[in-house]
Amino acid sequence: MTSLAHFQKIAEALALPGKAIIGGHKVPAVSGITFDNVSPRDGRVLNQVAACAAADVDIAVESARAAFEDGRWRKLPYREKKRILFKLADIMERETETLAVLESLDVGKPISNTLAADIPQAIRTTRYYAEALDKIYGEVGPETPDRFSFAVHEPLGVIGAIVPWNFPLHMAMWKVAPALAMGNSVVLKPAEQSPLTALKLGELALEAGVPPGVLNVIPGMGGEAGKALALHNDVDMIAFTGSGAVGRLLMQYSGQSNLKRVSLELGGKSPHIVFADCPDLEMAATHAAWGIFYNQGEVCTAASRLLVHESIADAFVDKLLGVARSIAAGDPLDPATAFGAMVSAEQMKTALRYIDTANREGGALRLGGNRTRIESGGYYVEPTVFDHIAPSATLSREEVFGPVLAVTRFSGTDEALKLANDTPYGLAAGLWTRDVSLAHRAARELRAGLVWVNGWDSCDITMPFGGFKQSGFGRDRSLHALHKYADLKSVSITLL
Ligand code: NAP
Repeated sequence: MTSLAHFQKIAEALALPGKAIIGGHKVPAVSGITFDNVSPRDGRVLNQVAACAAADVDIAVESARAAFEDGRWRKLPYREKKRILFKLADIMERETETLAVLESLDVGKPISNTLAADIPQAIRTTRYYAEALDKIYGEVGPETPDRFSFAVHEPLGVIGAIVPWNFPLHMAMWKVAPALAMGNSVVLKPAEQSPLTALKLGELALEAGVPPGVLNVIPGMGGEAGKALALHNDVDMIAFTGSGAVGRLLMQYSGQSNLKRVSLELGGKSPHIVFADCPDLEMAATHAAWGIFYNQGEVCTAASRLLVHESIADAFVDKLLGVARSIAAGDPLDPATAFGAMVSAEQMKTALRYIDTANREGGALRLGGNRTRIESGGYYVEPTVFDHIAPSATLSREEVFGPVLAVTRFSGTDEALKLANDTPYGLAAGLWTRDVSLAHRAARELRAGLVWVNGWDSCDITMPFGGFKQSGFGRDRSLHALHKYADLKSVSITLL
């Protein structure tokens, strides 16, 4: 039986990774500079981590380029690449507890989540792309008597993967696994708040037999290591998940350097619509609550705008509050905890600032609204619900990336769809109805990359993931993600 004491013991015994992984070696930053890696669980410094910058990026990119050019990974038979990626997944599975504890310590997620979701999903992603890599076919052109034409997928080269802190290992594998599966080399830049599992991944990949230089991990600040990677003239693509502000910079960096490809998975302000004929109010209320409070609301697809038909709104909000009150908040390392710490003092302050703004703009606070567990030294905010939020209110317009829900009532179907689409974002949307025609019509009219009917976040690695509008472009997950890491080459052979 696992307990808080069990996970605390693992945490105390762990050797926390702090060095970059470049060319198959664990190395300090060239400057020798490190940064404090703070745990949001108690505000304490966990360890010192190499603060990589432009000089480290140069070495990492050089190493990735050399690996790509000599073909030590790219030219391996696909059966061999597959075997190594499966072995990596097996090793990650063996290390599940370690990876889960590292992730919980680093970003404040409940250990119940990292054990049941983050790490298993990272492993599943690795296996999915290992399985897929020998099922990518080229195309044969139209037949002509004197020419044979075909199109083949070729790896891009060196991929810079820049990832956020909310699902650190999982998001990293959404980039690393398909990029490696297509034969590329990768330089991975984890967020400064969450270097631990990325660095551990670098070690495990070497153990699995991924050749040195093929996967390099450079922890550091976004404005230093991330910027240098995105401006580097020998990087072929930046695969990014993060904020719109940084996404905009990455496109500028591409223009200022070698026109590298950029794929952007950005934020959202996702609408969750409950129509009057919702087939199961209890289930919808549970999904509405977990849609915003899972991972302390630090989810790009968080169901942060709840749009409810006025005829059922009072009863529905009561049910939702009941679910929210039952969520067990606590120490991330306690297996009984379902709601942990926010990632940093800064992120906590951002959430509290949005709560303050919603109060000042006249939102009806129904639950939470405060910092909590202050005595722990960590960064905890209560699950918070505001009712009667106007569509023009800040809480309807801006992404909080925290556990703060805005409830808005509507009276007609067209009004609901208009409200749902009234946002610069377009990542996810959900709706609850018994009416199959309405489900189809709404699913088509909602301007979002992901639409869920009668369930929130109800699809997996097999389906594409990404946004419309300012939620970005390019897709993670599914076979589509593989094509993002390849160029298409047309070859024509004249038959003399
Ligand atoms: P962020 O500030 O954009 O950071 C993301 C990554 O970019 C980090 O590794 C960061 O490094 C790096 N970075 C920062 N400045 C940079 C620069 N000038 N050049 C290159 N890289 C730079 O976002 P975040 O706060 O980590 O994550 C929250 C945002 O990500 C939210 O908007 C959320 O919606 C979005 N998100 C989207 C998805 C999705 O799939 N659509 C998934 C998760 C999160 P540092 O950490 O060192 O600053």
